[in-house]
Amino acid sequence: MDLRTGIGLKDPWKELRKNVYRNVEPSVKLIAITEPTKEMKESGVDSNTLAAYTSRHCWESTTKYTDDPKANNELDKQLTRKLVQMGHDTPLQAVNYVFDVDGVSKALQAQWTRHKIGIGWSFRSTRYVKASGNQFVYNTYDYITDEAKVKELLALDEEINKKAIELYDKKLELGSTKQDGRKVMPVSFASHCSFFANARALRHLFKLRLDKHAEWEIRRLSAMLLEEAMKYTPDIFIDLYEKYTTTNEEQK
Ligand SMILES: Cc1cc2nc3c(=O)[nH]c(=O)nc-3n(C[C@H](O)[C@H](O)[C@H](O)COP(=O)(O)OP(=O)(O)OC[C@H]3O[C@@H](n4cnc5c(N)ncnc54)[C@H](O)[C@@H]3O)c2cc1C
Repeated sequence: MDLRTGIGLKDPWKELRKNVYRNVEPSVKLIAITEPTKEMKESGVDSNTLAAYTSRHCWESTTKYTDDPKANNELDKQLTRKLVQMGHDTPLQAVNYVFDVDGVSKALQAQWTRHKIGIGWSFRSTRYVKASGNQFVYNTYDYITDEAKVKELLALDEEINKKAIELYDKKLELGSTKQDGRKVMPVSFASHCSFFANARALRHLFKLRLDKHAEWEIRRLSAMLLEEAMKYTPDIFIDLYEKYTTTNEEQK
């Protein structure tokens, strides 16, 4: 089961969004991650096990290391899982991630930026960048079964978005600054950003935002971020990944 299905997100009307006015779908790409130095890598430490390595001082357990980098790496993978399980979270701050995120709405941004600790963003400026080319994030309406109603809802959303662009351009023509003009934009307008977070903060975000009580768009984004983080640091996130890819009706 994939993560989105695991958390109970469906997307039955994806095809209907294809030709909708300036629709943009979300995308998430991990573009950088903390990497140990050459010397450390040669001794078997990588991004996935760096946190565990730093925690070894806590118990002076470096003596368990051998001359075999592979064996050391294996020991630290196990230790990573143990740290997570115990809630020994501070070493997870050693690993920092940079994601390139596109196609998320202003409505999502308002929720996402409530997270403050170990986390940051560089968003496209709506004060300085002209909004005439804005794209929009459309709802999945996955809780509606009647296709005709979904078409009608998407048409309403399109109408609002088209009107917003028209009004924005008109305001600028009349002499409004971009920062005053932007106030006609609906919260569905899409943004592009770089997102920075350490592994501890990411785990916290995932616990809150993959949960069924969170809003669907931020749940979808969290699933995409987790999928990316799993590629390089599986042992830091495997518990959350397994929780949401294992059938469990309770989580939906
Ligand atoms: C399902 C859901 C519904 C929500 N609904 C609403 C809503 O209706 N209205 C609304 O305004 N917000 C709402 N929120 C936002 C929520 O209140 C938090 O602001 C947001 O989830 C960020 O969480 P956080 O503070 O734990 O994260 P972070 O800011 O990243 O903080 C991480 C951790 O650091 C500690 N910490 C952070 N700041 C402080 C501090 N000042 N003092 C002491 N310890 C601190 C806490 O342990 C915290 O968990 C909702 C969140 C969720 C997940």
